[in-house]
Amino acid sequence: RGAARIAENNTKQSKTGNLRCSSVVREVERMKEERERRRQLQAEQRQEKSALMSRDPGNPNWEVAMMVRQYRDTLAFKPLRSLSPRGARVQQITVCVRKRPMSRSELTNRNVDVISVPSPDSLVVHELRNKVDLTKFLEHHKFRFDYTFDEQCSNKLVYDHTARPLIRTMFEGGNATCFAYGQTGSGKTHTMGGEFLGKVQDCSTGIYAMAAKDVFIEMAKPEYRKMNTEITCSFFEIYGTKVYDLLHPDKPMLRVLEDGNQQVVVVGLTEMAVTKVDDVLELIELGNKERTSGKTSANAKSSRSHAVFQIGLYKGDSIHGKCSFVDLAGNERGADTKTANRQTRIEGAEINKSLLALKECIRALSRGSGHLPFRGSKLTQVLRDSFVGGKRNKTCMIAMIAPGLTSVEHTLNTLRYADRVKELIAKDEETV
Ligand code: ADP
Ligand code: MG
Repeated sequence: RGAARIAENNTKQSKTGNLRCSSVVREVERMKEERERRRQLQAEQRQEKSALMSRDPGNPNWEVAMMVRQYRDTLAFKPLRSLSPRGARVQQITVCVRKRPMSRSELTNRNVDVISVPSPDSLVVHELRNKVDLTKFLEHHKFRFDYTFDEQCSNKLVYDHTARPLIRTMFEGGNATCFAYGQTGSGKTHTMGGEFLGKVQDCSTGIYAMAAKDVFIEMAKPEYRKMNTEITCSFFEIYGTKVYDLLHPDKPMLRVLEDGNQQVVVVGLTEMAVTKVDDVLELIELGNKERTSGKTSANAKSSRSHAVFQIGLYKGDSIHGKCSFVDLAGNERGADTKTANRQTRIEGAEINKSLLALKECIRALSRGSGHLPFRGSKLTQVLRDSFVGGKRNKTCMIAMIAPGLTSVEHTLNTLRYADRVKELIAKDEETV
């Protein structure tokens, strides 16, 4: 039977011989064309690569730069550039992200900017990944927040959308709190304390100072002028579980006590009465200097502590409302555990603990009731007033991110933390 089939096939083939011949020719031509097309494509890619490399010779990251650029070509950019005439939204909890520009050293090291901020409330992180066959590709992580600030946004624009809407809270008898969160070097101190001109910080350009200015503008309004009010400032640092007064020349360590009514008191904290913006600027400068003048490497030390700047509004002898601005310790500690020494590891654990407690406390604030885990860390303990009192209190978190390829892991951690703060709120609101 097998032989019969072969014979049959042979007859078929001979019948279709001419047909087959021309289809083979066609097939060969198609392959030739295909090969030609591939060659052309490769030539174009080589040309693009050499153009890129000649513009930027020896850049080891040219491929990532090219892929990011190709992705950006598909986006329509309409980033935040000005405050809307209606002003910023006032919400109980606002979560924003600020991307800083590439630093000079990042540019010299051919680091690639892998963050795109296409609109006022969205952001994309381009993460470099390898396929199983080791070819590179980008994974695009998309995030949404209340506001996203790109590298061109000024401190003023950030302030207008974050802390400024909270100033009224203090006059209405509430507590407003603004946090700067992110890895070391992402721009927390730049945003809160002011721009650096070399090593010198111009504190008039920071959120602390801009807030103080608006507090005095509000104070000058007729309804407050008549009252017996006073503005005070305090500035302290939380290093591990210890609290240090930054406005006292000896930078003493202070005790934190809780009275029978769960009121938390930082015993002996300097509260300076101020009557004008210049008074406040002087105090900020003093505190900033005190903060970074540690015996060990100043920046390393300040990155491991939380700095809290507070403006208090007193009516007579009792506190009416408060604004707190917190420059948090760098959040990169978790990853340090392999290399760090014992002391640094203990500090890192404390920082992680305080940042987790902070997230839980903001979540409790959004619920407006229930268990408030403020004793979870020194930070949340001293800020207890920020998390109780329900709708009267307002909180804003600015998550700072560095733009570079080499920071992607920390950047994603920061964004996921910020995302969870917001996500939890959305979920909680649904159940209210
Ligand atoms: P962090 O306090 O988070 O450790 P810094 O505020 O000290 O970070 O910023 C690190 C560096 O980046 C500083 O040299 C600062 O001047 C610079 N920088 C941060 N944010 C910006 C920005 N938005 N524009 C320009 N430079 C910035
Ligand atoms: Mg800092």
